[in-house]
Amino acid sequence: MRKNATLLAGLGHYTCPQSGGLVPPVQSSVTSVIDGSDGALGYARSGNSSVLLAESLLNTLENGQGCAFFNAGASAAWAVLSTLTPGDSVILEADCYYEFRTIISRYCQRLGIALTLVDLCNLEAVEQATRQGHTNLIWAELPTNPLWKIADIPALAKLAHRVGARLVVDATVATPLWLNALKLGADVVLHSATKYLNGHGDLTAGALVTARPDAWWQEIIAYRTASGSVLPAMEAWLLLRGMRTLSLRVERASENALKIARWLAQQPGVSVVHYPGLEQSPHFARAEAQFSGGFGAMLSFQLNAGAKAAAAFCRRTRVFRHSTSLGSTESLIEHRRSTEGEGSCCPDDLLRLSLGIEDCADLLADLAQALDATVNAKG
Ligand SMILES: *Cc1c(COP(=O)(O)O)cnc(C)c1O
Repeated sequence: MRKNATLLAGLGHYTCPQSGGLVPPVQSSVTSVIDGSDGALGYARSGNSSVLLAESLLNTLENGQGCAFFNAGASAAWAVLSTLTPGDSVILEADCYYEFRTIISRYCQRLGIALTLVDLCNLEAVEQATRQGHTNLIWAELPTNPLWKIADIPALAKLAHRVGARLVVDATVATPLWLNALKLGADVVLHSATKYLNGHGDLTAGALVTARPDAWWQEIIAYRTASGSVLPAMEAWLLLRGMRTLSLRVERASENALKIARWLAQQPGVSVVHYPGLEQSPHFARAEAQFSGGFGAMLSFQLNAGAKAAAAFCRRTRVFRHSTSLGSTESLIEHRRSTEGEGSCCPDDLLRLSLGIEDCADLLADLAQALDATVNAKG
């Protein structure tokens, strides 16, 4: 079995059957002749050849038994939610991607689905929540956002399976290179491919990878066709271009994150650094047990100078762009509480960094000058 970097660089040793080309063409036809070639795809709402190639690659990276790409990470999440019916019950990571928390809360309320927010690192709390009702899904995020906490996937899978529930792991931030949740017992892995898989901040995409191609999974595939949420051919083609360099980008960005986390942890103006790759992090042991190769490129830190200083900090950086999102080549900074807005549980002095692939010296110098200016402004 070839290594991930080798698989990705050549798109799984791709050769175009028509031209012999090493790069796939964009096959944008919506329909194909019914009695045509063996590879005829039918109607485009159920898929296209670029999506099939991306699915085969991600399926291999994640050790899956089926993969489906959608036109956004949110669409992939909706596809999973579409399998729920009134009376069902879901446990969701409390420190999860805030927009999804809003989406799922509204959906569950409208459909009469019980939703419980739980800190999934607290297994006793999870056990209690699963005992309360018939749980259908446990929805984890590894690491969580924006505190980058690491739950124990094998333990969660055991708890889920004991009550007949499925474990969904949103592994967007971990990337398929550093974490393979299916191998650890998860039933489905979700990626917002808008982030690292595409990696260039120029399209939205999402993916699910399953441990079993069962009837439940077929329901998800049918939902994608019915809702028209498959990733279109042009976007899938662009995504494939991004995926070729996934390992290089994620390696550099994760290295930058670790260096910056270590540096921040030594600054007197910084009260806490949240990064699972720091030896002193309460999540380090669980991260080390489940991740391999790196810990991801997202981190947060809190300032001694407080909330106003944190908000001002974002306007002082010259290399970091003041912007939300993650997983692109350029580094971003945001005052997370302001982004999340009303109902946010994020600490108000917290700054979230998405590390890109820049030279780390420039990133460190930028943070140093912004930190100096913040401390001086206060004094
Ligand atoms: C961005 C993101 C999503 C949503 O994905 P979209 O592609 O924006 O729809 C879901 N989960 C996580 C962890 C994300 O960062």
